[in-house]
Amino acid sequence: MSGASAFFILIPATYVLFTLALVAIAFADKRLISARWAALGFAVACASILVDGFRDPAGDKWSAWFAVVTHFAPLLIMVQAFLSRHRRSVPKFSVALFLIASIVALPDMPWAPPYWLRGIIVQAVCAAIIISGMPQLWHVRRRSALDKVVFAVIAGAALSYIGRMIAIALNPVGDTAADVVAFYEGLNIIFHSASALMGMSVGIVLVLTIGFDLVRFREKEGEIDALTGLGNRKKMNRWTAESESGGRAIGAVIVVDLDHFKRINDSFGHDGGDVVLKAVAKTLQRHFAKYGTVCRIGGEEFVALIEERHADAVSALSLAARMAIADLSFSGSLARVEITASLGFHRLERGESVADAVRHADQALYCAKTDGRNRVVNAVIENGMQLMKAVA
Ligand code: GH3
Ligand code: MG
Ligand code: MG
Repeated sequence: MSGASAFFILIPATYVLFTLALVAIAFADKRLISARWAALGFAVACASILVDGFRDPAGDKWSAWFAVVTHFAPLLIMVQAFLSRHRRSVPKFSVALFLIASIVALPDMPWAPPYWLRGIIVQAVCAAIIISGMPQLWHVRRRSALDKVVFAVIAGAALSYIGRMIAIALNPVGDTAADVVAFYEGLNIIFHSASALMGMSVGIVLVLTIGFDLVRFREKEGEIDALTGLGNRKKMNRWTAESESGGRAIGAVIVVDLDHFKRINDSFGHDGGDVVLKAVAKTLQRHFAKYGTVCRIGGEEFVALIEERHADAVSALSLAARMAIADLSFSGSLARVEITASLGFHRLERGESVADAVRHADQALYCAKTDGRNRVVNAVIENGMQLMKAVA
């Protein structure tokens, strides 16, 4: 057995092991969506290497096409695997690029370029598929040290394809069958080694992220408020810490406190109060979850942390939530209950900490209470002074 064919067996065998392990992990824990994507990615990469390794390099056009398309696909799938950890997806542009490149590469197309140009285009498409997913990975790089490693590995992969483009441009492949075979015996084994190394690095980093995610899931289980299912104070503290470390951009804070809630408990008992709290929590979740997170941090007190990109909507969001709470109606013994809430919010200034913003929002809430309740007040900083502005 030659070195090259040993290579074409050893690498796919490793990829099969990665696939099997990832399938097992995905079955063992349904939350690990990244393991599903990664299993698919390694399975396709394995098929690609096998077909590419055992086809006649100057022969069958369809197997050449299959090898190229199954080379593109795992790149897209692996970026998706890493992004799915953050509930993100590859941009539609990456998918479109993959589809268009796969169609353009079909055999016997009228535009079939010379072999050397074809090589450059294939490497360029690979690089472009990876690079188009990188802004999303860049966005989450500060969530953890591991996210930085993921970004570095993916960036390394993109660079390796750019390197290949340059290598082919400097050493173009001729168009005769002999040229192609010679190319395969020379440069291409280096390319395949680079792909194998990349696959291994991605596999190792993936396994690390899966371990990390399992620990993270365990931690998150302790961040849920048992009564309402919202986040608890621990979750708020984690989001605050992630904001301080630059891993998450929080742009506004809303504090919500139910009005005269003690009366509800006094009139309808603690269980009646709990029913109201759950209904309010559901309303807050519906209004705020899309824009950040909402946590129950005390008996009938909630804090919403709004992401920077939605922070301009904080006033409208607060108002809508206040009105939705006032519109809540209940059935049975709670049919007479009328509930209102007071809200205070604060839009973060540049460089301001979330902890300070919570304090400002809290003071705005206090103002809403003293002003008569069922109100929204905005705490604004002007010339270093805190001003309270009633919203409605
Ligand atoms: P205000 O308008 O000034 O906020 O009046 P309030 O009555 O809402 O004020 P306060 O914060 O003093 O009262 C909160 C009450 O919430 C006290 C406590 O009995 C009740 N509470 C705290 N946690 C829970 C809970 O988990 N379930 C229920 N049912 N009641 C709770
Ligand atoms: Mg209250
Ligand atoms: Mg309270």
